[in-house]
Order: sequence, then structure tokens, then C-alpha cells
Amino acid sequence: MSVFKKINKLPPDSLFGLKARMSADTRKFKVDLGIGAYRDNSGKPWILPSIKSAEKKLQEDPTFNHEYLPIAGNPKFVDAALQVLVSDDAVYRQIKDRTVSAQTLSGTGALHFAGTFLSRFINKAPEDKIIYVSDPTWANHKQIFELLGFQVKTYPYWNPSTKSLNINEMLQTINNASSGSIFLLHAVAHNPTGLDPTKEQWNLILDAIKSKQHFPLFDIAYQGFASGSLVEDSYSLRLGIQKLSNSPIMICQSFAKNLGLYGERVGAVHLILPEIFSKHPAATAVKTNVAPDAEEDPEEFKEAVASQFKKITRSELSNPPAYGSKVAAEVLTDPQLRAQWEQDLKTMSSRIYSMRVALRDALTNKYKTPGNWDHIVKQIGMFSFTGLSKQEVQRLEEKHGVYLTSTGRASVAGLNENNVDFTAQAIDEVVR
Ligand code: PMP
Repeated sequence: MSVFKKINKLPPDSLFGLKARMSADTRKFKVDLGIGAYRDNSGKPWILPSIKSAEKKLQEDPTFNHEYLPIAGNPKFVDAALQVLVSDDAVYRQIKDRTVSAQTLSGTGALHFAGTFLSRFINKAPEDKIIYVSDPTWANHKQIFELLGFQVKTYPYWNPSTKSLNINEMLQTINNASSGSIFLLHAVAHNPTGLDPTKEQWNLILDAIKSKQHFPLFDIAYQGFASGSLVEDSYSLRLGIQKLSNSPIMICQSFAKNLGLYGERVGAVHLILPEIFSKHPAATAVKTNVAPDAEEDPEEFKEAVASQFKKITRSELSNPPAYGSKVAAEVLTDPQLRAQWEQDLKTMSSRIYSMRVALRDALTNKYKTPGNWDHIVKQIGMFSFTGLSKQEVQRLEEKHGVYLTSTGRASVAGLNENNVDFTAQAIDEVVR
């Protein structure tokens, strides 16, 4: 008898499988629109100038060392991460005393952390451990939460025929879900569609979440990367904080894209507790919506949460990785580096936008490709949900060496002045 039960062999991860096929492809000219990582106009990875300066500053710092971080992470980084997340001093002051945070292994680690915490402490029977994610969503969402024992359900999001948000059906699902369900929301630059709710739609979504007393779990992986503005790209979070001030909110934050620190795994998770947990004098005994018991002492409860956060990190990482958090903290807090970073965000977001325009223009004007391609320009962030079918994507890869995921999601950051026309011509060929 074997020690193990039957272990099924799984197919390779679709994105990393795509990368392997591309590496094995011997054609000289290939276009990589697969992985969501920024490339410069020559198709190369880009180290942000702000990051280069921060690394230099650390190298010259005589107190720099490689000691362990505290369990909850680098305090300077974690605090700066929360400040940048809300991008508004008044909101930061409102929430800082009632937020429990931990440094995580980038956004994926933050989601896994949130799932671990919620799986233990959400006040639901095991059979009701449900999380709602958008249809479609980033592929990893489903497996992160399934691995943690959640039942993953979807809410309608993308309407393929109109290439717009399925707002009515989305609201219907929020309204029909059992009270206190977890809803995973992409705060900005929805992956894979590049389609975000408008400000009016966010109003409706968050009102519905509030009236059903659901638990919002925000995932923010593209702040500043989408529009070039940190403030603009955190609008939904501030609206959520304002509307749901009597309920807890959890936020998973990644610095992979906006600092270009992909492999350094820099991120954080934040649990903002209801206003009753604030030391702020205005916070009178407001009844909380979801958790905890109104009778519970707020300070005790907050400390209990912090201690459970530490237990999760201690047992999974012991303590989070130091280097990336130190670099990030410098960029976030040094005024000069911060100004350079805000410039870097504009450099990345505007180059991506110019590639959206170039692709749309080539398809529409130069090749007169059948169909309407305006959605490429309207979508935001790293990706475009092109609307290309699985067969068209396959033909793009096989005949032209243009690689994107089978869902038709293209990482626009992979386009540049040398390959955008080639890509448009290839798309034109496959859709005719
Ligand atoms: N959430 C979303 C929606 C993402 O697109 C990503 C990156 N692809 C992440 C989270 C997390 O990425 P990372 O773990 O590299 O920070």
C-alpha cells in the first residue's frame, strides 16, 4: 500500500505553460502578450529609476543589514503602504488606529493570508464558507480560495456581447447572496478584462454590499499603474471606507506592478475595523454590522486580531522578506524618491496607453479589420480583453508567434513601437 492516495498530475499553469511554449519557439520575431509584467519600448524589463535610487541609498546606509524583520513586517513599510493605499491624509487619520496590517508575500500572499484568516474566523458554518469572485477573474483567485476550503462562486461581471459591465446582474447576485457573504472586488484595473466600474457603478455596488452586510475583500494590484495617479486608482477603496464605516473591510495590496518589484514579493494585507474601534472621539458606540459582538471591548478585539495575524505569519513565513520592503519603504517615504516614483508611474501608464491607441488605430484605420476595437482604448491597466476567440488566439500563436492567453487577454505592456504594427496585422489575418 502506498503512503499516498492517488496524486493526479495537473496540467501546467496556463500562463507559465505559455511562457514555456514561447521559449521553445525558434522563430526570430515573437510577441509576448502573456505575462502581466511591464516592458519598456524595447521589450525589456524595466527597473524603475525610483527603485534604482532607493537601492543605492540602502547600499550606502551604514545601518543596513540582513537581520530578521518583526513578525508583522517592516513597520516603516507597512505604515507607508496603508498611507499610499488610501492616498488621503484625512482618511488615513480616520482609519490608522482601527487597522490591523501585516506584510505579505506580495498580492498573492496577501490573498492567501486573508483567506487563511477568514477561513478560521468568518462567522459562518463550514458549508457556508463561500467567496464570490467576478466572472471572469484572475485565474489564481479561484485556486487560492479553493485550496483554503472555500466554495468559490461567481458574480456576473463582463458582458461579452457589449464588452461592458454586467452591472444589473452583478447587483442581483450581490442582493441574492446570503447576508454576510465574502465578495472579492478588484479595486482598480480589473484583471483580465481591463474594465472597471464607473464611479456611479461603484456607488451602486458598495451600497448593495452595505445593505446586505456582506464582507468586502478588495484586491488592489495596480494602484497608480492604471491611470498614472495613486489617488485616482484608489477611489473605490476610499468610497468603500466611507460607505462601510460600520463594517470591517479587508484589503490585499501588491507592489509587484507599481514598483516593478515582481520577484521581490512586496505586499500587505490590511483589515480595517469598524469605526467603533477608532480612538477618534467621534467614534461613539456605533453598532457594528458584521463583527464582532457589540459588547466586545474594541481594544481587546483589535489586539486579538493582531495576535492572530502574527500567528499566521509566524507559522507560514516566520517573518516576511526584508529586502523588497526596505526598498519600497524608501520610495514611499523619501520625498524625492516618492516624486520620482509618481513620475515612473506616469511613464509606465502613458506608454501602455499609447500602445492601446496604436493598436486600435492600426486595426481600425490601417487594416480596416472587421469589428469595433475601441474597447482596447477604453480598458485600463495592464490588460486588454481583446474579444478574440480561443481559435483566433491559437492561430495567432501558431501562424504569427503572437502569444496571449486563451481567454483573449493581452498584456498591453508587451507591445512596443517595433511590434505593434506586426501584432495588428496578425490580428487582422486571424479575424478575417
Ligand atoms: N491580484 C490581481 C488581480 C493580479 O492581477 C495580481 C498579479 N497578476 C495579483 C493579485 C498578485 O500578484 P503578486 O502576487 O505578484 O503581487
